[in-house]
Amino acid sequence: MSDTRRHLPAVNTLLTQAEQAGLLESAPRKVLVDSIRAVLDRARSEGSGEPDGGWLAAIEQRVVAGTRPSLQRVINATGVVLHTNLGRAPLPDAALRAAAEAYRYSTLEFDVTNGERGSRQDHHRSLLREITGAENALVVNNAACALFLLLNTLARDGDTIVSRGELVEIGGSFRIPDILARSGSALIEVGTTNRTRLRDYLSAVSPRTRLILKVHPSNFRMTGFTEEVEIGQLVDLGRDRGIPVVHDVGSGLLLDLANWDLTGEPRVQDSVAAGATVVFSGDKMLGGPQAGIIVGPEAIIQRASSSPLARALRPDKFTLAALEATLAIHRDPAAARAEIPVLAMLTADRSALASRAEQLAQQLAGATVEPGHSAVGGGAFPGVSLPTTLVRLPADSPDTALAKLRRHTPPVIARAADNAVLFDVRTIRDEEFAVIVSAVRGAAMA
Ligand SMILES: *Cc1c(COP(=O)(O)O)cnc(C)c1O
Repeated sequence: MSDTRRHLPAVNTLLTQAEQAGLLESAPRKVLVDSIRAVLDRARSEGSGEPDGGWLAAIEQRVVAGTRPSLQRVINATGVVLHTNLGRAPLPDAALRAAAEAYRYSTLEFDVTNGERGSRQDHHRSLLREITGAENALVVNNAACALFLLLNTLARDGDTIVSRGELVEIGGSFRIPDILARSGSALIEVGTTNRTRLRDYLSAVSPRTRLILKVHPSNFRMTGFTEEVEIGQLVDLGRDRGIPVVHDVGSGLLLDLANWDLTGEPRVQDSVAAGATVVFSGDKMLGGPQAGIIVGPEAIIQRASSSPLARALRPDKFTLAALEATLAIHRDPAAARAEIPVLAMLTADRSALASRAEQLAQQLAGATVEPGHSAVGGGAFPGVSLPTTLVRLPADSPDTALAKLRRHTPPVIARAADNAVLFDVRTIRDEEFAVIVSAVRGAAMA
């Protein structure tokens, strides 16, 4: 035995010291003992003896790493508003409160007026009718499974017609042809990649046709020599032939944001008014929880609701409470822009962004501000980049600096540039400036 090995303390000695230092209050005994063993193992294998900073500090570091939640809050300093990897839409405060309340006993499937069984689909139904103009609504876990449910319910035993220009992949390997194949419906492609006309759809209709599907290409944009068929024309064609038409609009935009240079996304109400069955996400432009929302004619919603798949895809009470609260805000467009974080960030005033960037820069030694751009993200408004003001902090190795910022609690996620890291205040709340200052200090950058 070498000298260092012989002089390593016993597990029990360190355990007693750790208990006296109060470490058991922040971790279960098993985690504490495992942490002590890991620190001793390392000292043994490296032949290094007592770590710099002492045994207790090393043990505490292990305990912190071993008890930190995997799914945790982060500061989004990237300026990508609907950042899918960071959880897409941050919820409005009212939705957070509603979700927390619903996690006690709740009226999830209970009607308080008569004391009888209710439906979990009742909480959002009248709001979705009022806001979108649709006859009825059904909510499932996300838009991908909403589309799957509709294809499987309406077209399992026949054909679904889709334009070649809309056979897209929408991030995370969600491919329209694959989802169609799994739903049991046969894909009939019409038109070409860049141009599809009404007569292409007309000539594809056969006795096997069960559905016409229109998909908003979201994160993919075509320019130049292109042509597509309006949803209204497809609905007219479907009505003539007795074929339902589904429009997957993706982002779930309800407001007209043209005043903020946000154009090119279909609005849910417009497709509903055209007579389509419309599918959209809850956590994109709607600004609520992850959900797949189907709105449309009564008969279609009834058929989808009575599929056994609807039960398999049903949303939980957290989702439904947060969705109802978010929809309630959407009843007033001005309130929606003020209170729904996604909409507030996207419509933020340019001069307000500039002065907030100045405020953050003043708290970070060596930081400067400069003009830049934010992105909408989440596949919505792909061509749009929103003018913003960035905070630039010099760093010899930006990647190392970003890694250090990610190690902070809560982690700070920023952007890399040449010899600098960039913070976009569009996606940072004022209360989070202090966190960024502490993370930058911890990373020894300022
Ligand atoms: C984002 C998107 C989806 C998938 O929505 P999820 O809610 O993430 O499942 C489907 N279709 C379109 C057009 C989209 O933009």
